[in-house]
Amino acid sequence: MNRAVFLDRDGTINEEVGYLKSLDKLKIIPGAGAAIKRLNDAGFKIVIITNQSGVARGYFPESLVHEAHELLTGMLRKDGATVDGIYYCPHHPTAGNSNHTVQCDCRKPATGLLDRAARDLDIDLKQSFMVGDKWSDVELGHRAGNRSILVRSGFAPDDPLGRWPDSLYGPGTGCSWAVSVCTTDRFDSAFSRSSPGVLPAFSGVS
Ligand SMILES: [Mg+2]
Ligand SMILES: [Zn+2]
Repeated sequence: MNRAVFLDRDGTINEEVGYLKSLDKLKIIPGAGAAIKRLNDAGFKIVIITNQSGVARGYFPESLVHEAHELLTGMLRKDGATVDGIYYCPHHPTAGNSNHTVQCDCRKPATGLLDRAARDLDIDLKQSFMVGDKWSDVELGHRAGNRSILVRSGFAPDDPLGRWPDSLYGPGTGCSWAVSVCTTDRFDSAFSRSSPGVLPAFSGVS
């Protein structure tokens, strides 16, 4: 079976801009491509897991999600980085009035997308990581049995505290710091779970 690093998209790989309604807003967070390449080289499958409720809300067509992913993977490829899969949830339980306004099993922190990716790519979830900038990403990691890593780019400083991550990295560095954790097995060394409720100061990875 394969090990994977599941990566949130907005605020983790590319800059958080609210709803990504046009392709010119898509900007890679510096270092993200190199980080993903390191994970490729370390033998991880790289799977992007992203909520795109802007589709359900009617903010942009589903085709834009596909175009954004073409563009994103092209940009990452220039850094030598390969993405093995991208799974997105276009739904929202209440917002909008399209056929995507439904209670689904794939909107993070529900595990539907991860489960699908695990089947498609033969991934051992217990040996995998979930990296994101929101507490819903952390919660997803916990539910799926991944080890969860919160990066402090994107929404992390403002997002209401939910489940405590297994590890915490940043600030403003996207997924690049988190990679050190996945690739060195120093998972818990930089972070203590003993004081939930306050984001601890960034201690860095040497
Ligand atoms: Mg995010
Ligand atoms: Zn969904």
